[in-house]
Amino acid sequence: MDIYFEFDSEKIYEPVLANIIIETQIPINIVKVTVSNEGGEALITVPDEVADKIIARLRQKGLKPTSKFRKINLDKELCVDCGHCVSLCSFNALAMDENMEVMLDSEKCTGCRRCLDACPRNAISI
Ligand code: SF4
Ligand code: SF4
Repeated sequence: MDIYFEFDSEKIYEPVLANIIIETQIPINIVKVTVSNEGGEALITVPDEVADKIIARLRQKGLKPTSKFRKINLDKELCVDCGHCVSLCSFNALAMDENMEVMLDSEKCTGCRRCLDACPRNAISI
């Protein structure tokens, strides 16, 4: 199961995932981690049968995991290709194509919701 979570700046230097792996002896596949001075976000995958246990551990450590991704929808009828949402997507799910039109790659979308409120045209929904 895919699990997405965000963390604030206080957690940047804390080996949260390493500790969970050691404590639970459960292998965690770290798909992607993005970190800045303000915090970060991570996408991990774990075996389905232990997902609840990992989610509980993440919550114990002050994180807010989302176990079920709800990917976004991009309404191309409303979208004016301003590109604002593209700059907010750190998973490259939103990108400009060669015609400078915004395209959504749903396979890359983690459902982090960062782009949701950014669209002045309400072209993005979840
Ligand atoms: S912010 Fe909205 S209008 Fe602008 S490119 Fe993204 S979806 Fe299109
Ligand atoms: S919800 Fe939006 S910002 Fe987040 S990964 Fe999906 S497309 Fe990118």
